[in-house]
Amino acid sequence: MIILSGGTGTPKLLVGLEKVFKGEELNIIVNTAEDVWISGNLLCPDIDSVLYTLGGVMDKKTWWGVKDDCFHTHNALLRLQHPEHLMIGDKDRATHIMRSELLRQGKSLTEATAMLARSFGIPDRIKILPMSDDPAAVRTKILTPEPEGELHFQEFWVTRKGEPDVLDVSFEGIDKVKPSEAVVQALEKESDALVLIGPSNPITSVGPILSLKGIRELLKWKIVMAISPIVGTEAVSGPAGKFMRAKGFEVSPSGVYTCYKDFLDVLVIAKGDECPTDAGVDVLKTDIMIKKDRDSKRLALFLKRYLQKAKSF
Ligand code: GDP
Repeated sequence: MIILSGGTGTPKLLVGLEKVFKGEELNIIVNTAEDVWISGNLLCPDIDSVLYTLGGVMDKKTWWGVKDDCFHTHNALLRLQHPEHLMIGDKDRATHIMRSELLRQGKSLTEATAMLARSFGIPDRIKILPMSDDPAAVRTKILTPEPEGELHFQEFWVTRKGEPDVLDVSFEGIDKVKPSEAVVQALEKESDALVLIGPSNPITSVGPILSLKGIRELLKWKIVMAISPIVGTEAVSGPAGKFMRAKGFEVSPSGVYTCYKDFLDVLVIAKGDECPTDAGVDVLKTDIMIKKDRDSKRLALFLKRYLQKAKSF
């Protein structure tokens, strides 16, 4: 199975997928458009969330960073008047240091991620694939009204707490970046593999992956299933609603469908929602809220049962 992931909704689902699809190879293609060099190290928020979730150390209260982390280095840097705008925990920073050292030694981001995955005890059958091997070459920019104007995603979401109105979202540098070789290979090699788009932000998490050259074309040849990150007319969490509206999509499961319409086969939405689609697209309804690990397992089992039934036809 191939999975497209951001840093919160899809990692929540990975907890169950890993258990329910035991023994199966999982290729997780992860967004890197929010990556940023900070205090000398490369922070890859979405890759880190996937590593921490599968490595069993995710802080599941906040869905970022390592559980029970401390902030001695961050606080010491502030005392030195080094402006570090993101709060980075010490254990979290250790991941960034190892990754950056590996990159400085000439390893690719894909190789560095594989080495980190091994260090976190993640089995070999699970491949965490950065969408591209050009570190921090794509920058998600959020256009807000003047005087602030254009903000980096992290500035908008962390420093400004997602408060400004959003006029547009863009991915600076995306035209110059290629999908990684491992990503293309996974999509080409596994010709009959299912592609699962987890309940991630369709604009800033899945959007950059889909914007890479050739990816949408490759997906047209696959069975693609997406889980809606929108319930009713609101995102379950985060700024997806604001971003979808700014890009001209309705904030609803129908809006999610429109984002993926050119290649989508199955859309999973909340029980109380409706989503008219073109012929040939299945809409499945179930509880898509993931509050505990058992919710993740239940949703993963629901997907597995549907796939088994679909295969038997
Ligand atoms: P980011 O990188 O932190 O923005 O994370 P993602 O893009 O992976 O996840 C954010 C999206 O996950 C948001 O649009 C949320 O609406 C969605 N989300 C978060 N929790 C849940 C959940 O329990 N169920 C569903 N269906 N979506 C969720």
